[in-house]
Amino acid sequence: MRLDVVTIFPEYLEPLNVSLVGKARARGQLDVRVHDLREWTHDKHNTVDDTPYGGGPGMVMKPEPWGEALDSIIESGEGQPTIVVPTPSGKPFTQELAVELSEKPWLVFTPARYEGIDRRVIEEYAERVDVREVSIGDYVLAGGEAPVLVMVEAVARLLPGVLGNAESHRDDSFAPGAMADLLEGPVYTKPPEWRGRGIPEVLLSGHHGKIARWRRDEAFRRTAVNRPDLLERADPGAFDKKDREM
Ligand code: SAM
Repeated sequence: MRLDVVTIFPEYLEPLNVSLVGKARARGQLDVRVHDLREWTHDKHNTVDDTPYGGGPGMVMKPEPWGEALDSIIESGEGQPTIVVPTPSGKPFTQELAVELSEKPWLVFTPARYEGIDRRVIEEYAERVDVREVSIGDYVLAGGEAPVLVMVEAVARLLPGVLGNAESHRDDSFAPGAMADLLEGPVYTKPPEWRGRGIPEVLLSGHHGKIARWRRDEAFRRTAVNRPDLLERADPGAFDKKDREM
């Protein structure tokens, strides 16, 4: 998969060199290209922003550098990318969207600063390629770089061969399947006792059926406490008799 990121703070994307994403890059599973938006400015001060039409506080990112950057990136590759525009006014970033994006061959991220990018840029590219305006949550950050790090990590770990154990994300919270509407329950490792605290007996039983039941019950309990909204909107058919008794 190819990933391009256009930003005025390329150094903010340094974490893409470490851990899971860094290793995927080193193995050639991910081709990540970070670009400095200011390379596509032509004035002495490399200006990327200007005052908003209609007045008001803050600055708006100018369309010209973004247009030149996106044209040049689109022309540099084969086929068409999906452009992901981080914005608090976008559609929520969910595991479902991460799965969808992980199936695309090429993503271009456009993290903004200030009050965002001149609207005409989004309109222009939406007529030419697949453009997704995406929010990582109901809060406002100073820039889109942190949202890009969040989205790239969520997408990259779904790519075949990126996680050491391909099964690892099967039981995750929000993973598609029988537990799709449940958060993941608690997990334990050795030693069997730590500061006087043991682990649930069933996990030592070796009985796969009982362990699966326990995990489902714990997932259900945790979801009911932390995210009752997930249970409310879930398909009632997804729950069994034991779930309903909880
Ligand atoms: N005035 C904008 C609004 O209220 O929608 C907020 C602009 S914010 C200060 C600057 C940039 O940070 C945004 O254009 C976007 O790239 C990024 N950003 C901030 N919060 C975000 C969020 N929750 N999800 C995705 N991107 C976000």
